[in-house]
Amino acid sequence: MPKPVVAIVGRPNVGKSTLFNRITGSRIAIVEDTPGVTRDRLYHDADWRGCSFTLVDTGGIAVGNDDPLIVQVRRQAEAAVAEADVILFVVDARNGLTADDEEVANLLRRSGRPVILVANKVEDFRDPTPVHEFYRLGLGDPVPISAIHGLNIGDLLDRIVELLPRFHEVDDGEALRVAVVGRPNVGKSSIVNRLLGEERVIVSDLPGTTRDAIDTYIRRDEKEYVLIDTAGMRRKSRIVNATEHYSVLRTLKAVERSDVVLLILDGTEGVTEQDKKIAGYGHELGKASIIVVNKWDLVPKDDKTVVRYEEIIRRELSFMTYAPILFISALTGQRVARILPTVDAVGAAAARRVATSTLNDVVREAIMLTPPPAVKGQAVKIYYATQVKVKPPTFVFFCNRPDDVHFSYQRYLENQLRQAFGFEGTPLRLLFRQSK
Ligand code: GDP
Ligand code: GDP
Repeated sequence: MPKPVVAIVGRPNVGKSTLFNRITGSRIAIVEDTPGVTRDRLYHDADWRGCSFTLVDTGGIAVGNDDPLIVQVRRQAEAAVAEADVILFVVDARNGLTADDEEVANLLRRSGRPVILVANKVEDFRDPTPVHEFYRLGLGDPVPISAIHGLNIGDLLDRIVELLPRFHEVDDGEALRVAVVGRPNVGKSSIVNRLLGEERVIVSDLPGTTRDAIDTYIRRDEKEYVLIDTAGMRRKSRIVNATEHYSVLRTLKAVERSDVVLLILDGTEGVTEQDKKIAGYGHELGKASIIVVNKWDLVPKDDKTVVRYEEIIRRELSFMTYAPILFISALTGQRVARILPTVDAVGAAAARRVATSTLNDVVREAIMLTPPPAVKGQAVKIYYATQVKVKPPTFVFFCNRPDDVHFSYQRYLENQLRQAFGFEGTPLRLLFRQSK
């Protein structure tokens, strides 16, 4: 992922190269040389508050030197608009506003790019008059600086990183973490590649990738995800045959760190013992899961294929009937676009909190419909329930004889909760406690 580009634009002599040197040569911004033939010393990488960007001094870009100055400046601005994520438009506060400034401002405004208006050569910050007239450019508040004396450069840098594309300063706190797991060769890598290549998805590498998986941050429709890709490691290190032990460990760790598990099956092979084992990790750890049957393009189909396949999966993976099933092909892209919306749905279900009163309405009705069977002639009574946790939703039922609530009755209650509240994709935990 290339770094975002910040371009400095402005008339000659306003102080562009001084500002460039000030930012790149100063110790407040950490500067590293960018090697490469297409880049000369007018490009420099800089780093401010953890955000990296490439600073460009367009004043040094050679554009038809025989042209009148304003044409040169306009071309520089056009070049900046074409390649920059943020534009610093530098004006000279000592000289005041000129017609050329206004022409460049028009061009920049029309570009729709984020522009920071920089009023340079301000040496006295107590006197606001020199910067006032620049409001007329319609580019917002001018940021007064002195490039040569290094005044207010930190504030300018703050403004710059605020405007950098968001995916370069990833805060994945809100993101749903999605582990992509499955046996070797079921198509994990192919699916991840498809997801990353999907239209409308913005991708960024995450720092802190572990040895066990490659984490990739993606954003789609303002929703954020981190893909935890267990196959990616192999892709990166070119180790094709990881040992069985290692891949189990890797899968477990990925599942542990996730909110939602994509369990990938190979549609041509049905459900194998190893698939069951991997599916079990997610279930045991209380993670929401989606069963993704890949290579659907290879499966000979008639009108009952899907139904039959679903029956097989429900039978073989009977402990996770809550998981939705998607039939996809990473090869053709068929239904791959359904994956992230399904992730949203099950992620939301796993995080769902039910109000105690609503919950007890449902529980009371369920008990009225079918009371818990008595054990050894003694009535089993459930008094009330409350949700104590999410991810997975966990409910405590207070009762007189918690050990006597039969497993099949627990199942019944779980089904009633699912009927009432959905909870698609997530396991539920039901705990039974003695009520005093
Ligand atoms: P450029 O043509 O836009 O790249 O402008 P330069 O960076 O070459 O600067 C033009 C002139 O303005 C030089 O003589 C600089 O020393 C001077 N200059 C730049 N920044 C400041 C500043 O903050 N205050 C003052 N007083 N002069 C400055
Ligand atoms: P991984 O080991 O789980 O990461 O699996 P890969 O993504 O490396 O895929 C294993 C093999 O299956 C490769 O040869 C892929 O080209 C192939 N493959 C993956 N997805 C599909 C699919 O949907 N249809 C078909 N026909 N082949 C696929």
